Amino acid sequence: MSAAPIDLRSDTVTRPTAAMREAMVRAEVGDDVFGDDTTVNRLQETLAGQLGFEAGLFFPSGTQCNLAALMAHCQRGDEFLVGQEAHTYLHEGGGAAVLGSIQSQPLAQAPDGTIPLASIEAAIKPADDHHVRTRLLALENTIGGKVLPQGHAQEATTLAHRHGLATHLDGARLFNAAVKQQVEARVLVQGFDSVSVCLSKGLGAPVGSVLVGTRALIKEARRWRKVLGGGMRQAGILAAAGLYALEHHVARLAEDHSNAQALAGGLRGLPGLEVEAPETNIVWVNVAAPLAARLVPALAERGVLATGTTRVRFVTHLDVSAADVARAVAVVREVTSPSGC
Ligand SMILES: *Cc1c(COP(=O)(O)O)cnc(C)c1O
Repeated sequence: MSAAPIDLRSDTVTRPTAAMREAMVRAEVGDDVFGDDTTVNRLQETLAGQLGFEAGLFFPSGTQCNLAALMAHCQRGDEFLVGQEAHTYLHEGGGAAVLGSIQSQPLAQAPDGTIPLASIEAAIKPADDHHVRTRLLALENTIGGKVLPQGHAQEATTLAHRHGLATHLDGARLFNAAVKQQVEARVLVQGFDSVSVCLSKGLGAPVGSVLVGTRALIKEARRWRKVLGGGMRQAGILAAAGLYALEHHVARLAEDHSNAQALAGGLRGLPGLEVEAPETNIVWVNVAAPLAARLVPALAERGVLATGTTRVRFVTHLDVSAADVARAVAVVREVTSPSGC
């Protein structure tokens, strides 16, 4: 393959644009552990203000951002309720248990990503010495590329608060949900006590996530960030990329969503593929048995990168054009055609 591969493995693969690198070069920096990196401070204040929170905190990764949030909300021996397909439960190495001494109570999710309110309520443990203390409900938006229904977030957080639980939103792709629904992101985070947002996915920054919450919660999370090794020094270089992304790369997420629609449309009906309708920038394709084992490697040989076997994931992002999508469809068509490979 002579041309650069079309990388649909994740929206984390985006490279900083020339203009973003320019913003990074120009960034004013200080020592953020001392709190005097003005660019980091500006990023934290900007996102907190945008989402309607008192304070923000910059992290090197979304995983560390979520973990510090869990540790700020929960003490040793506390529990958090979480969807069993949620990133914080399934894809963060069990960090809550390993590093936080926090028990996860995973709950089955409906196909739309919601957790039935009755199962949330039933999972809240009675207050006696036999039981772990249920302290927090964590939700995710988007979840597997699906927009979490807004009514659900409202009902679930109200229920949690009624039982004295705190609420956290893993909003790694929050802006995808906001752009898709054409609402301000701050509307989608109402009812949550803290929210994490990834800058390094569709927003295209090289590194970083931001946690927002009350001043008190952020103070606690800041302590855990240091303990977890996430205290960075002249991090303004990285925060500048985040600020640039918030200004220039949010509205354009709509392009990723329409590219995902085009990709799904192009793949639909190809032999051996069952394509799920994408809501944002993630296209899920269920692949029939003989094809499943060879599809992703065969695509890779032809310069189209994806992940999975029986359930293959294609993610559109800043570095994938409509022409790339057309080429990717042509390659999948070739690989899946009965007379093909
Ligand atoms: C990517 C992601 C994270 C954070 O991942 P990092 O790779 O650690 O930045 C958290 N939650 C969700 C839903 C994600 O998709």
